[in-house]
Amino acid sequence: MNSTKAINKVAMIGAGIAGLACARELQSHGISVDIFEKSRGPGGRMSTRRTQDWSADHGAQYFTARDPRFIQEVQSWIQAGTAATWKPKLKVYEGKTWRESHSQDIRYVGTPHMNSPGKHLAENLSIQYDRTISKLGRKDEKWYLQCNEANEIATQYDFVVLAMPTPQASALLRSVDVRASDIANSAQMKACWTMMANFPNQLNIDFDAAFINQEIISWICQNGSKPMRKGNTWTIHGSPNWSQNNVELSKEDAQDQMVQCLTALGFNCEDADISMHRWRYASGGLENSIGFLMLQDVGLGLCGDWLNGGRVEGAWLSGFNLALALKQI
Ligand SMILES: Cc1cc2nc3c(=O)[nH]c(=O)nc-3n(C[C@H](O)[C@H](O)[C@H](O)COP(=O)(O)OP(=O)(O)OC[C@H]3O[C@@H](n4cnc5c(N)ncnc54)[C@H](O)[C@@H]3O)c2cc1C
Repeated sequence: MNSTKAINKVAMIGAGIAGLACARELQSHGISVDIFEKSRGPGGRMSTRRTQDWSADHGAQYFTARDPRFIQEVQSWIQAGTAATWKPKLKVYEGKTWRESHSQDIRYVGTPHMNSPGKHLAENLSIQYDRTISKLGRKDEKWYLQCNEANEIATQYDFVVLAMPTPQASALLRSVDVRASDIANSAQMKACWTMMANFPNQLNIDFDAAFINQEIISWICQNGSKPMRKGNTWTIHGSPNWSQNNVELSKEDAQDQMVQCLTALGFNCEDADISMHRWRYASGGLENSIGFLMLQDVGLGLCGDWLNGGRVEGAWLSGFNLALALKQI
């Protein structure tokens, strides 16, 4: 006789691409999922900064698709109008010289913004925004959740999934399960300083985006070169090592250093309207990917890019595959 208890009610913590993929797959199998998200909208690090005058993707810049299931998923996003291919004129800066990029990768972006696929996936899901889960408790084989904004969540759950970067998962797992906690603690994520610069005048720059090597900046991209965008706003990412080593700089100091580097690369930043964002947990993860983690005995799952090689595709597959495993219970 199968002694496994049926899973009827799942709490998903995090509405990034991993949590959304997992929740959708579970819901399609008739499992009820409540999602709790600390920010105001879905998509997590697939995100767009908006001001009155301009907008720019300030997290993930584009994504690739290699796994057949993710290729199929991206095709469905394209059909829904929430993603498109992006064919930038790409350059590489290395050893103080510029060259054309020979990369043959097919690149996709969300349309009209990078958070559009997340919004699309969030349709018909039960999501509570502005809910930061601060504590998990387990009693009589049920999970109880506490959040910063509303104290105890009234519903109890059979299964909890943490779909968030590893340091945030670690904080919740500390007193919950030592196995999951050890895995989360063994992963390392790096920060990313992001600068968004809106230029009032056209620049004399002959590329849409560039990989920058051996400098404090690692990526420059004209947001308006992506489909369904316009304007002259550039997103500039600090390199993972420089960003991590300087994560505690003030925004002003980080900006000064990045502007200096950008100026040396040929950008006149004098009239630019600049905004900074500090991503504390941008990239990285487990040294050896495990895809996702499912601890059936305690009703706990972990998914996210950090368990599956990083990046948008890794995050989506991590959530999707955790849902497939959960459906087998
Ligand atoms: C600057 C930058 C550039 C990048 N560039 C690329 C790129 O070019 N290509 C690419 O493929 N990938 C890129 N990535 C990585 C990509 O964005 C991620 O791999 C992917 O979006 C991760 O999805 P996720 O669902 O695992 O996590 P996230 O997107 O981080 O989602 C986790 C969610 O959990 C929420 N959350 C966290 N803690 C709690 C809590 N306690 N309670 C409730 N909610 C909580 C967060 O608010 C967030 O919405 C980039 C990332 C950054 C930051």
